[in-house]
Amino acid sequence: MKKEVITAIKKLLSTPKRIVIVPHKNPDGDAIGSTLGLMHYLKIYNHDAVVIAPNDYPEFLKWIPGEDSIIQFESQRIIAQKIINEADIIFTLDFNALHRTGHDMGSFLETSSALKIMIDHHQAPDNYAQYMYSDVSMSSTCEMVYNFIERLGDSDKISAAIATCIYVGIMTDTGSFRFRSTTSRTHNVISSLIEKGADNTSIHNQVYDNNSYNRLQLLGRALQNLNVIPDLNTAYITLFQKDLDEFNFKKGDTEGVVNYALSIKGIVLAAIFIENTQEGIIKISLRSKGDFSVNEFSRAHFNGGGHTNAAGGRSETSLDQTIEKFIAILPEYKNLLS
Ligand code: 5GP
Ligand code: MN
Repeated sequence: MKKEVITAIKKLLSTPKRIVIVPHKNPDGDAIGSTLGLMHYLKIYNHDAVVIAPNDYPEFLKWIPGEDSIIQFESQRIIAQKIINEADIIFTLDFNALHRTGHDMGSFLETSSALKIMIDHHQAPDNYAQYMYSDVSMSSTCEMVYNFIERLGDSDKISAAIATCIYVGIMTDTGSFRFRSTTSRTHNVISSLIEKGADNTSIHNQVYDNNSYNRLQLLGRALQNLNVIPDLNTAYITLFQKDLDEFNFKKGDTEGVVNYALSIKGIVLAAIFIENTQEGIIKISLRSKGDFSVNEFSRAHFNGGGHTNAAGGRSETSLDQTIEKFIAILPEYKNLLS
């Protein structure tokens, strides 16, 4: 983050403001952790700071400090629109384009005249914010929120609540500190968060050891539906709506399942295709090892994007047609996948 930007933001935040903090749609640990961490920090300076999420988020995040204050645009639209209309500043965290908050909320944010500040680590950010802290090398938006607070000279103001929020997002976005984006700096930040009161064992338990029986049964189905294309070092999983219904699917139940496909020896590209009949789409999650960019792959073929080794996308055809398309495209990438 440039010095001028920090100075400008510091000045901006020197008097109490009405601030809205927004994560992307279907927020994950990094999105919820970073927005709540920033909210707790801004409240120290008596800002009126509110997190407005586009929609609901998984049960395994419903314990994070301040989580119960989150307003959901989808189900609380009138109040959410009122607060956005009255905001002086809108922070957008963990996404790179306003439409990532969903069609309706994205359009609404576009019409807002509030000053916008982006903090994000996704590739190819749109240019909607007056102040941008965008860095694709970062492990997580949470690590960036830590840097942001530090650059504002306030490391010593990081409370146990802030530390807990930030810990969650670094942990979830790095696959518990194992993805390539994890650096020694990431570990230094984590170390400091533990010193400030983040209870690492308890956080891991609350996020990862809170499975329902149904979730594990659904995982079993997903693993049965795992296909491998050995020539192309690719593995993919399919889940139909009927599979989700059978095991009483709840938001978050399929999070991380794609990593089982990626864990097969020699696999470079892994995907999961999940049917959502209500939205009429197939939700796609892509993961890769090494230099194969699923961000570029998804941008080119599946209306999505993200990072080099983790990206999302969608398809508006049937699940079978989506798989046919996926299999038909892959040979173009044979060299990159080998
Ligand atoms: P997931 O597969 O877990 O939904 O997403 C993987 C990563 O890609 C996350 O960082 C997520 O925010 C990002 N992502 C998912 N879908 C999209 C998309 O449609 N566009 C962009 N730019 N990023 C996405
Ligand atoms: Mn993230």
